[in-house]
Amino acid sequence: MTDSKIESTSIVENLDPVFMSEQQFDRAVCFMQEIKTGLVEFLKKPKRITTTYFPIELDDGSVQTFHAYRVVHNRVFGPGKGGVRYHPDVTLEEVIALAKLMTWKCALMNIPFGGAKGGVVCDVKHLSEKELRRITRRFTTEISHAIGPNVDIPAPDLYTNEQTMAWMYDTYDVLHPGQNNLPSVTGKPVEMGGSYGRNEATGLGVLYVTERFLSKALIPQQQEVAGAKVVIQGYGSVGAVAAEAFVRKGASIVAISDSSGGIHKADGIDLDALAQFKQSHGSVVGMPDTMSITNDELLELECDILIPAALSNQIHAGNAQKIKAKLIVEGANNPTTVKADEILNQRGIYVIPDIMANAGGVTVSYYEWVQNQANEQWAMDYVIEKLKTKMYHVVDVVFDRWQKFVVGEEVPGDKETAECLCEMKPSFRSIALMQAIERVAKATLMRGIWP
Ligand code: NAD
Repeated sequence: MTDSKIESTSIVENLDPVFMSEQQFDRAVCFMQEIKTGLVEFLKKPKRITTTYFPIELDDGSVQTFHAYRVVHNRVFGPGKGGVRYHPDVTLEEVIALAKLMTWKCALMNIPFGGAKGGVVCDVKHLSEKELRRITRRFTTEISHAIGPNVDIPAPDLYTNEQTMAWMYDTYDVLHPGQNNLPSVTGKPVEMGGSYGRNEATGLGVLYVTERFLSKALIPQQQEVAGAKVVIQGYGSVGAVAAEAFVRKGASIVAISDSSGGIHKADGIDLDALAQFKQSHGSVVGMPDTMSITNDELLELECDILIPAALSNQIHAGNAQKIKAKLIVEGANNPTTVKADEILNQRGIYVIPDIMANAGGVTVSYYEWVQNQANEQWAMDYVIEKLKTKMYHVVDVVFDRWQKFVVGEEVPGDKETAECLCEMKPSFRSIALMQAIERVAKATLMRGIWP
């Protein structure tokens, strides 16, 4: 297990991803009325872990060994589903925690998939396109026995994209000739079986959950996206699309960042100019007419909505007291630590959790899988309308359940634990997770414990 910790003035925080995902799970479960003890153990553990080391010849003729993982957490509702990330900090613990998150995300969204995740320990910034292609093909080959259209379906994630998915699909197809392999991978280019709207899905989903949430009037002074000052951490697949979507709805992006740092402009950043600047300079930092800030400063800026859309553990015990946003919408997976959740809950700052906020990606991945099974391609407008309806619906479901606890119509099954976890007024994360865990637990028992 990793032993990374954050120390603030008074709180030392354990950032082990498995530890944190179990804490979130326990917190959610104490709101449920009943769950069998043995079942809790089953739902916490991954179903299957694949670990692999493989050698790759680099462009200079040298050989490097890479370390990679694919984890399936749960398959009660269907094949495993989850992204593949390429990052130097990938660990088995992180991949397990992210696979679990996918189980809850799919269950919450009522998508007939289980949870899975994969990762290769590598730094794409120091690899050529040819090296990345070789890594992708070899990784796919190493896990090819464990993935497939009805077994486990990879998709893009951090530092992987539709090109990576095209290589994964091609490799899988070569190894499994004579059958329709298009549904074995999602997030493919539209020219080869990808769905219209998949690239935009996660960022657009972030907008849809935000507008529906604001319309519930929990933040009286901010009941719509128009006029909101928005800060986004990350200018990748999720952050860049979300930025454009929020601006189209009348918000202004007052700060945005990438791995090199952030930029700030109080009256709103020009996104067209930003796209051109990033294209020519490789970073958002240094864009004319903006002020350079660090990623830490960006998170603590005065704003209405904060969207972390980059890495995990960005909002933690050390900075949660300094967050000034009224609402946090988790574009990234696990950007908020457990301690930070507690602090934000006590401070009355609402968090729309990752399993709702960034579920647009897996939703359209599911649409891609359905289209691939039928050899169809749906129109962009049709996909986006379906996505919007689904994202609005999930906010309504979680909000209604949350309200039942707030007014006392429902009470925590385990009041004592809820109390000592400082969650007598539940967070949206706990309620969304509870809703998902309830569905998976029920389905597990209905299928029957085997044999
Ligand atoms: P991406 O690789 O396209 O973009 C990541 C962005 O984060 C880049 O702009 C990068 O520069 C920035 N970044 C990296 N390190 C940073 C740092 N230390 N500080 C600030 N910014 C940093 O990845 P993505 O697909 O946009 O994924 C971002 C997050 O969203 C991840 O947590 C991922 O798991 C989650 N997510 C993605 C999808 C999807 O469909 N792509 C779906 C659900 C969740």
